[in-house]
Amino acid sequence: MPRFRHILDTMAAYKPGKAVAAPDGRSYKLSSNESPYDPLPSVVEAIAEGARQVNRYPDPGSVKLTEAIAERFDVPAGHVALGPGSVTVAQQLFESVGEPGVEVVYAWRSFEAYPLLADLAGVKSVMVPLAGEDHDLDAMAEAVTDRTSMIFVCNPNNPTGTAIRRAELESFLDRVPEDVLVVLDEAYREYVRDEDVPDGLTLYRERPNVAVLRTFSKAYGLAGLRVGYLIAPEPVATAVRKTVIPFAVNHLAQIAAIASLRAEDELQERVEAVVKERTRVREALIAQGWTVPPTEANFVWLRLGERTPVFAEACASQGVAVRPYGQEGVRVSIGTPQANDAFLAAAGEFLQSK
Ligand SMILES: *Cc1c(COP(=O)(O)O)cnc(C)c1O
Repeated sequence: MPRFRHILDTMAAYKPGKAVAAPDGRSYKLSSNESPYDPLPSVVEAIAEGARQVNRYPDPGSVKLTEAIAERFDVPAGHVALGPGSVTVAQQLFESVGEPGVEVVYAWRSFEAYPLLADLAGVKSVMVPLAGEDHDLDAMAEAVTDRTSMIFVCNPNNPTGTAIRRAELESFLDRVPEDVLVVLDEAYREYVRDEDVPDGLTLYRERPNVAVLRTFSKAYGLAGLRVGYLIAPEPVATAVRKTVIPFAVNHLAQIAAIASLRAEDELQERVEAVVKERTRVREALIAQGWTVPPTEANFVWLRLGERTPVFAEACASQGVAVRPYGQEGVRVSIGTPQANDAFLAAAGEFLQSK
């Protein structure tokens, strides 16, 4: 029998969102926070054109995409690091700090990949329970020890959708020692409308230990191509670039991401439509009698406790795939108006059947 690392026996596996279908064939996938829109024609065209070059390796440094991101956000190109999805950039961060004895602090519940990446990198997860549906930043600051190398802050938080405001985040950052890296995971930044929620890039510009993670998977609609990025002070970006596997960001992903940055106005209209639907869905749920925390992301969170699995099944029987989390709650992505209506109908029926 080959011998493997012990951690593989105890590590939680990442559970991707499932697709389901109702008996009549209806199927709405609201379980992975994807964009419900087909890719933009201009992006599809760029990908089709790029397909002619895939006999060659991609540009290993993703130079054009790196420059496009640097220009878009007015940061030096040396502060940008790319990976095949921001979850892989997060993995590169964990690998960059991962040594026996090192601790990484993050809230729980938060993004499911964090414990997995910590285990893989051989670091200790220090999971700080949410206060209600929000980050408990006081408790997180208190959890920092001289073994802490990194803190992950998911803003807005996946799966609760709640966002941390400027004053609160700044006073937290003031309390974190400068040799502890704070990673602001902003996978849903484009959906934020509350002006008191800070843009992580503003904080990165002011502090040497703040890094920002963003992705093309959600608002930009490129989940299937895998491309995400980090914007961080030079030493952090350099460390992340050292841990990347050669040619990790493929040619089509680079091309599609560049085309998407060019089409940002068009994408912004889609994001706006999702934000409007988010308001409609949340208000309709509240009118039905649900408690729904305010959300700044492209999903809503229902804390159902032990009713979580039956609720997910009730939705599935109507062709609506949602994301259940154990006995805690359900996260539901905002989709097309039709998909959202199907979900609202299932949620309403569930309450009436109780
Ligand atoms: C979806 C998500 C990501 C990563 O997405 P990629 O597809 O790997 O870019 C990262 N962080 C959070 C919190 C997410 O929800």
